[in-house]
Amino acid sequence: MPSLVLHVAVPSPLRRSFDYLPPRGYDAARLVPGMRVKVPFGRTQTVGVVLEAAAQSRVERVRLKPVLEVLDEEPLLSAELLALLSWASGYYHHPIGEVVAAALPTALRQGRTPRVRAAAVAPVSLIVEVPPLLHMAQEQAVEAVAAAQGFQAFLLEGITGSGKTEVYLRLIERVIAAGRQALVLVPEIALTPQLMERFTQRFSVPVALLHSGLSDGERLHAWRAARSGQAPIVIGTRSAVFTPLARPGLIVIDEEHDLSFKQQEGFRYHARDVAIMRAQRARVPVLLGSATPSLESLYNVREGRYRRLALPQRAGRAKAPQVTVLDMRSTPTEGRVSRPLLALMDATLKRSEQALVFLNRRGYAPTLICKECHWVATCTRCDTRMVLYQRAQRLLCHHCGAQRAAEKACPACHSLALYALGHGTERVEETLTRHFPAAAVARMDRDTTRAKGALQGLIDDVHAGRSHIMVGTQMLAKGHHFPQVTLVGILDADQGLFGVDFRAPERMAQLIVQVMGRAGRGDIAGQVVIQTHHPEHPLLRLLLTRGYGAFAEAALEERAQAGLPPYSALALLRAEAVDAQAPLAFLEAACRLAQEAGMAEVQLLGPVNAPMERRAGRHRAQLLLQSARRADLHRLLATCLPQWEGLKLARRVRWSLDVDPMEMD
Ligand code: ADP
Ligand code: ZN
Ligand code: ZN
Repeated sequence: MPSLVLHVAVPSPLRRSFDYLPPRGYDAARLVPGMRVKVPFGRTQTVGVVLEAAAQSRVERVRLKPVLEVLDEEPLLSAELLALLSWASGYYHHPIGEVVAAALPTALRQGRTPRVRAAAVAPVSLIVEVPPLLHMAQEQAVEAVAAAQGFQAFLLEGITGSGKTEVYLRLIERVIAAGRQALVLVPEIALTPQLMERFTQRFSVPVALLHSGLSDGERLHAWRAARSGQAPIVIGTRSAVFTPLARPGLIVIDEEHDLSFKQQEGFRYHARDVAIMRAQRARVPVLLGSATPSLESLYNVREGRYRRLALPQRAGRAKAPQVTVLDMRSTPTEGRVSRPLLALMDATLKRSEQALVFLNRRGYAPTLICKECHWVATCTRCDTRMVLYQRAQRLLCHHCGAQRAAEKACPACHSLALYALGHGTERVEETLTRHFPAAAVARMDRDTTRAKGALQGLIDDVHAGRSHIMVGTQMLAKGHHFPQVTLVGILDADQGLFGVDFRAPERMAQLIVQVMGRAGRGDIAGQVVIQTHHPEHPLLRLLLTRGYGAFAEAALEERAQAGLPPYSALALLRAEAVDAQAPLAFLEAACRLAQEAGMAEVQLLGPVNAPMERRAGRHRAQLLLQSARRADLHRLLATCLPQWEGLKLARRVRWSLDVDPMEMD
C-alpha cells in the first residue's frame, strides 16, 4: 500500500500547497493536519504546516521528497482553524503558506519549540468589583445574545458611553461560567490596557493579551494560554482573530467600523469579516459593537443577516452633549480657532474642567509657500507637499517619511518671504498656548506619541488634571474615557466631505460622532462646537440634526444609486514600479486577459494612475474590478490570477490584489 502524501502549507508567494512524503521510518498515522514540519524547499529548508494527509499527490510520487523533521507531537492549529485559514486564502486570493504563517507567532513560524513556562498569563486580580445594575436596553441585549443557539451575528449599536462594554462584560461572565472562552478584538493597542483593566477588575481569571507591541516571547506565551484554554478571555488587535481557542464561546468586535481591522498590505484580510466566518464555523455568537456602525454592517442588518441591538441612551448619569454648529464663512477666528469656541474654552477652564480640540492634520502647516512666486515645498519622491514642522524647522513627507531642513529662502526666486499656509495640530497648540498662557496645553498625535509609553503619559496627565486643553488628531477619538472633559471643539468638519474616496463621508461622520462622544462622559453635561465652511452640506446637516442613523441611511441610499459597496463587491489590482510606464502596461495586459475571460458581469474600471501617482519614488496605477454579485468577481479572479502571474510584464512591477479594498489609493 502506498504511503500517505502530505499537503504542506509553505511560506511562499506561490498560490498552492506543496506535497511531501512522511519522514522515512516515521509512523504516518501519527501525522495530523496542523503539525509543523521542516521540509526541503528549493535549495533551502523551511517550516511548513501539514494541511492534509492524502492518498493522492498532484506530483509523480518518485519526485516527492520526504519531510526532514516533524516538529510537533500534536497539531498546533485545529482542523477548524485550518479550514478557516484555507477559506481566507481562497477568499482573499492570497497564498495559503503566507496565510497559515500569519496565524503563528514568530517563534513557532521559525521552527523553534520553546519550553512552556508555568506562569499564568496576566495579573489575576484579587480587588473583584460589583457590576452596576443593567438598564433595560442592556438587559435585552445581553439576553438576546445569551439566548443564541450556535452561530448568530449581532450588531450592538450604542452611542459612546451607553454601556456597550458593560454588555460585553456580562456576556463574557456567562461564557466563563459555561467553561468557555471569549475572544475580544479591539482596533488599537492603546485601548488594550484600558479594556484589560476593566476585565481584570471584574474577573479573577487569566486574560491573554495579543497585539503587535509584544515581544516574541510574550506573544507566544499568550497564544499558548489561549490555545490551551488556560486563559478564558483573549483580547487582541487585528491578527488575534486567528488565535487558536480550546473552547470558543463568543467573539466580540469592539468599534467594528474601525479601519485598522483591515490589513493594508501583504495578506489583506478584514479581521471583522474573518471573525464572522470564524464564529460561523465554531457555531458561536459574534457581537459587533459600535456607536457608528460601518455601512456594511448596517446593510447586513437590513438584509436580515445580523440582528440589531440598540442602546439608545447613555448609561449612568451622563447626558448627551449640546451641539453648536459654526459657519466659518462668517465667524471671526484666531488662527484656526473661532472666537466663540475660545470664549467657551475660557469658561470651561474657569470651572476647572477640561477642553478637547480636534483637528485631523499633524504638523504645523500642510504647506510651505513662497509669497513672491508661489513655489511650494514638495516631496522629491512623492507627488505631494511636505508638511512643515515649525519648532523643529523641518519638512516631513507624511507619505514616505522623507525629511529635510525647511528652506529659509525660496529655491525658485530666492525670496525670503516663505510662509506657512494652513493649520495643523502643532500650530493650533501654539494658538491656544498664546491665548491661554496659564493653561497646560497637551498635543496628542502620532508625532507626540511615537515613543513607548508617551501616549499613556499624556492620558495620565489628562486624568490627573495636569493638562487642561488637549489638541489632537483622530487618536483622541478612540474610546478614551475622560470624565472631566466637558467641551469638545471640532476645528474642521469639512475634511473628508469632498474626498476622492467614496468612503470619505462615512469616515468623517464616524470621526465627528466619536469625537463628540468624548464630551461630558462624567456627571457634567458636555458641549460640542463644530466648525464648518459647509453648514448646508446635506450629509453633514443630516448627521448634525438627525444623528448618525439618519446619515447612514442617506449614505447607504447614495451607495445603492451608485452601485458601490455594500451594493457591489470590489477588488483592486495595484501595480507600482520605478519605471513610469511599467505599472500601466502590466495592468493593461491584465485587463485584456480579464476581458478575454468573457465575464460581462464584472466591470473593469481602468487601469488608471493612482490618485497619488508617485509615492516613495515609485509610480503607481490600479485596475478596479466591480461586480454586483460577489461570486462572479471571485470566479473571474480565480481564472485570471494564474494568467496575471504568468505575464512577463508582471516581473517588471510590484503588484498586489486587494479584495474588499477599504482604501482606494
Ligand atoms: P461604552 O462602551 O458604550 O462607551 P461603557 O460600558 O464603557 O460604555 O459605559 C460607560 C460608563 O457607564 C462606564 O463608566 C460604565 O461603568 C458605566 N455604566 C455602564 N452601564 C451602566 C449601568 N447600567 N449603570 C450605571 N453605570 C453604567
Ligand atoms: Zn519664490
Ligand atoms: Zn514622500
